[in-house]
Amino acid sequence: MALMTGEEYIESIRKINMEVYMFGKKIDSPVDDPILRPSLNSVRMTYDLAQMPEYEDLMTVTLEDGRKINRFTNIHRNTDDLIKKVKMQRLLGQQTAACFQRCVGMDAFNAIYSTTYETDKACGTNYHENFLKFMRYCQDNDLTVDGAMTDPKGDRSLAPHAQPDPDMYLRVVERRPNGIVVRGAKAHQTGMLNSHEVIVMPTVSMKPEDKDYAVSFAVPLDAPGLFMIIGRQSCDTRKLEGTEMDVGNAEFGGVEALTIFDDVFVPNDRIFLDGETEFAGMLVERFAGYHRQSYGGCKVGVGDVLIGAAAVAADYNGAARASHIKDKLIEMTHLNETLYACGIACSAEGHPTESGNYIIDLLLANVCKQNVTRFPYEIVRLAEDIAGGIMVTAPSEKDFRDPKLGKYVEKYLKGVEGVSTENRLRILRLIENLALGTAAVGYRTESMHGAGSPQAQRIMIARQGNLGMKKELAKKIAHISE
Ligand SMILES: Cc1cc2nc3c(=O)[nH]c(=O)nc-3n(C[C@H](O)[C@H](O)[C@H](O)COP(=O)(O)OP(=O)(O)OC[C@H]3O[C@@H](n4cnc5c(N)ncnc54)[C@H](O)[C@@H]3O)c2cc1C
Repeated sequence: MALMTGEEYIESIRKINMEVYMFGKKIDSPVDDPILRPSLNSVRMTYDLAQMPEYEDLMTVTLEDGRKINRFTNIHRNTDDLIKKVKMQRLLGQQTAACFQRCVGMDAFNAIYSTTYETDKACGTNYHENFLKFMRYCQDNDLTVDGAMTDPKGDRSLAPHAQPDPDMYLRVVERRPNGIVVRGAKAHQTGMLNSHEVIVMPTVSMKPEDKDYAVSFAVPLDAPGLFMIIGRQSCDTRKLEGTEMDVGNAEFGGVEALTIFDDVFVPNDRIFLDGETEFAGMLVERFAGYHRQSYGGCKVGVGDVLIGAAAVAADYNGAARASHIKDKLIEMTHLNETLYACGIACSAEGHPTESGNYIIDLLLANVCKQNVTRFPYEIVRLAEDIAGGIMVTAPSEKDFRDPKLGKYVEKYLKGVEGVSTENRLRILRLIENLALGTAAVGYRTESMHGAGSPQAQRIMIARQGNLGMKKELAKKIAHISE
């Protein structure tokens, strides 16, 4: 089957009979819901750009067997693939100024590809073949796949099997001849309701007592027992006001859902790990590594839009020529490009796994994500500085359109001559959206916690940093012999 167009993608999601709840109600048609639709539009962009000749090289991959696939379903074959992944993500961030959600599936694909290969080799299982079959199905049908790792985790100091409530980590509750039944939940699931399939993975490394929790598999979004409760985003109900300006980014957005697996059946050929606790850690580490690389692309693209918005705001209020404004824009650019440099570096330093697919340099990927936990906050701070207070105190679009009030808003919120007040308000609302509104979920808090909280990267940096080798270097230079 050929790559889907954006419209075909939307219609394919519409056909899935998924169970979605928001504000205490079942949503009959998530595709048409005004709060949810912008998030679907962001994923759609991954299909639209793949149809455009100028982006063909970034957005698609032609495999050795001649099949042309969307890069989001690719298994990285070399460092060039890893680099193009980051460039593609920056492009998508630039086009949507939001989380386009499809990268978690790509990162899960690559982590599972190599982990199933090594698990089979050590344990004589058949997971790699299961995964290859699933992967080909997704590639040939151009599907969006969600990557579900994060369990609710209950008491963070306790292992999965030691939790007072055994469902705080997703687990196998029944083994049947033809498959398994799983129970639990995955929290914060980005883009789940805009996906055709979901790959579930464990969240943490595990010990033998956690056998039932060391499970990975794929199910379609309409699997019986699977349902989603949509996460609230700051300012989400502005999308219900029937106006466009106040939303800041009316067309695109992100979405997260608490996803419940209430005794979901998984057939044998959809299982990628079941009980091999010693491989849970490998899967977590590889998925997290690829996902930490991802942030060196997607957040950079969104940062490009924010930097541009701040510069436009300065143009519109007449401050653009001030040296401190120019310097703040330079600082924002420096921070943003540093994130990109890390994304590219960990890709360029990638290497093949035993299975043959390419993995990023784990140390550099963790450094990349550690920077992402900080720099977007500083970029936002500088954007708020440049935007001025009116970014958060401007009256609503309804006041602006009001026959009596509008002329006052128009008059008193004007900046430089030749720029309409409306345009000034539009750019300020975009900054507000990224700093404090719906998009701040993706640009700020996801930068902090997505792919693991900052401490998770510091643990990996400690493990990968090779302090012993560095001590030896110092002793050699200092002529120390012990
Ligand atoms: C917007 C957004 C989108 C996301 N999208 C996805 C997604 O698509 N798929 C997915 O699988 N996940 C997703 N995540 C989840 C993300 O990976 C987690 O948020 C992250 O791993 C942190 O887990 P937590 O939120 O439960 O935080 P917590 O575990 O509650 O962490 C809070 C603090 O406690 C500390 N802490 C936690 N446990 C311990 C411990 N044992 N010892 C010491 N300190 C500890 C942490 O370091 C942190 O400082 C998303 C998160 C966000 C915010």
